[in-house]
Amino acid sequence: MNTPFSRREQTDVSRGVSNFPANRHKRGVTDSLAPAREILRRVFGHAEFRGLQAEVIGEILSGRSAMAVLPTGGGKSLCYQIPSLLRPGLGLVVSPLIALMADQVEGLKQSGVAAERLDSSHSLDQRADVWRRAERGELDLLYLSPEGLMQGATLDRLRTLPLALVAVDEAHCVSQWGHDFRPEYRMLGRLADIFPGVPRLAVTATADARTRDDIRSELRLHDSAEFVDSFARPELALSAERKRGAGHSRVEELVLARPGRSGVIYAGSRDGTDKLADRLSAAGVPAMAYHAGLDRELRNQRLEQFLEADAAVMVATIAFGMGVDKPDVRFVIHADPPASIEAYWQEIGRAGRDGQPAEGITLYGSADMAWALRRIASRDVADEVQQVQNRKVRQLYTMLDGVGCRAAAVRRYFGEEGVANCGQCDLCLSPPEAIDASQAAQKALSAVHRLGGRFGRGRLVDHLLGKTKDVHESEAALSTYGVGREFSPAGWRDLIDQLLFDGLLREDPNEGRPLIGLGEPEGVKAVYRGERVVAVRKPPEKLDAATRPGRPRKRTREALEALAGGDLVLFDALRAWRRDEAHTQHVPPYVIFHDATLTAIASQRPADRTGLAAISGVGEGKLERYGEAVLKVVRDN
Ligand code: ADP
Ligand code: ZN
Repeated sequence: MNTPFSRREQTDVSRGVSNFPANRHKRGVTDSLAPAREILRRVFGHAEFRGLQAEVIGEILSGRSAMAVLPTGGGKSLCYQIPSLLRPGLGLVVSPLIALMADQVEGLKQSGVAAERLDSSHSLDQRADVWRRAERGELDLLYLSPEGLMQGATLDRLRTLPLALVAVDEAHCVSQWGHDFRPEYRMLGRLADIFPGVPRLAVTATADARTRDDIRSELRLHDSAEFVDSFARPELALSAERKRGAGHSRVEELVLARPGRSGVIYAGSRDGTDKLADRLSAAGVPAMAYHAGLDRELRNQRLEQFLEADAAVMVATIAFGMGVDKPDVRFVIHADPPASIEAYWQEIGRAGRDGQPAEGITLYGSADMAWALRRIASRDVADEVQQVQNRKVRQLYTMLDGVGCRAAAVRRYFGEEGVANCGQCDLCLSPPEAIDASQAAQKALSAVHRLGGRFGRGRLVDHLLGKTKDVHESEAALSTYGVGREFSPAGWRDLIDQLLFDGLLREDPNEGRPLIGLGEPEGVKAVYRGERVVAVRKPPEKLDAATRPGRPRKRTREALEALAGGDLVLFDALRAWRRDEAHTQHVPPYVIFHDATLTAIASQRPADRTGLAAISGVGEGKLERYGEAVLKVVRDN
């Protein structure tokens, strides 16, 4: 693959930021890796390890525990799958949403790996069969939920079996500081005592330094090696914009500009999800709503429909996502902003897992920020935790509303150093022009001060413009009344947003009729004294993601053409074949072959099995199953 977005580049860049001590176990790694490479080729059909995979696998193969932070799509699963195949005994994989691990298990079976999951929704017979096979040593991998694993009866049975390793997926769930704390993960600390001598591997895609420390201490990985890959996602083009008016019309516009592609739209509430899905459906978009309030059956059905579709849009709350590995999601739109930078990276990270160009677009507003802060304040947690969470919210909005490269800001947030600008986010492509609005800010702040924080933003703007309806004498007499005629109402609203983001103003919810008051006193004083400059962004005209002239679409098309060597006919034929095959087997298409594999087949046009076997993603199992059928499609097209 030779596109600008290929993973090789990412790999090379990322090696530099590994926290892995370069010389430690170096010999061990190279010596023990030959069999791992052989499995990588034979079973999974990949020629080379990617990123830090080799290092992580080497560490586990030498019997030591480890923690690995690898980006979404970075191939975390191979880090425990390959050692499970190579080391004697069963590999246990703990994952938060066992139902969603079905894909991984299905994919492994397709590659000829003996993998199963223990799921409480399975019948007694099914479960008995899984145990029988595990006890006979016929299973390579077993997937479980944390609560499933930590049951006394399960542990008793597992204790009698030889184990290859215990992998903890989405390990950040163990941390209170993280963004997705799951109390049931806390129990996993006991694994160290329960299975002494069995290497444990914690993997996650998002963990800042503090969360990493937490994972180490909770999972008792104190002396284990830590592998941290770059957080770069070069295939993702990021953008964000302030909400204007009714947000849903903007979302509709964005989606309609991206036809024929799969996407995920995150909305803040169940109700918002339903409404947005209805609106998009009415506009002809194949959209579905997904949230925890829906009946389980319906949810599963929609999930399946989404996974199997070539183009579908899932409008969801954050209940949707973890473990959804649909590789060809081309865009993620936040109709409402995420909760933190970690959540942002994880949620938009669900786009472009196949390494091909994808987009992450976020809509946000100062009201969202106020709401997030309020929610934290209402939680019953320690002050220290609240402070950390408040800071996370502020950092998120600083990034969203900032002026510097978004990807670089996120990577720095995760502790990466020497990060270059991405060159493809909205801010890199059209850096916002800032204007000095310090004087206007002084006017707004003193108006708020004079009005004693009794008014909401609409009245405040009217006041500044001197346009308040039926204005009371005392208000009209204030020196700030009508001092701001140089700005349009929209200009003032923007500035007020800016002041809210900067913490210079504060919004008091007042039961749904928010009032604007002064924010952090030191900052306000500094603005009055002219010591602090308030810069506002001039809305850059070309920023509009929908009107960026065909850019996203063109790029995808070009990338596909480049990948397929211009042979889109064959590529489409291969997709059609895959769709039929997936339909017959009732599995998602990418379980059979990923797009990346199909594009490689389309461009290389292998003439025989040897040629086909050389393509990344075609292992022995799949060659056996699908080889003849695929070669026929190539011959016929
Ligand atoms: P994540 O780290 O997000 O869990 P996965 O383990 O699901 O990522 O892998 C993402 C994709 O990358 C999968 O399609 C997988 O087959 C592919 N992949 C993993 N390792 C390699 C590799 N060494 N070479 C090529 N493709 C790989
Ligand atoms: Zn950028």
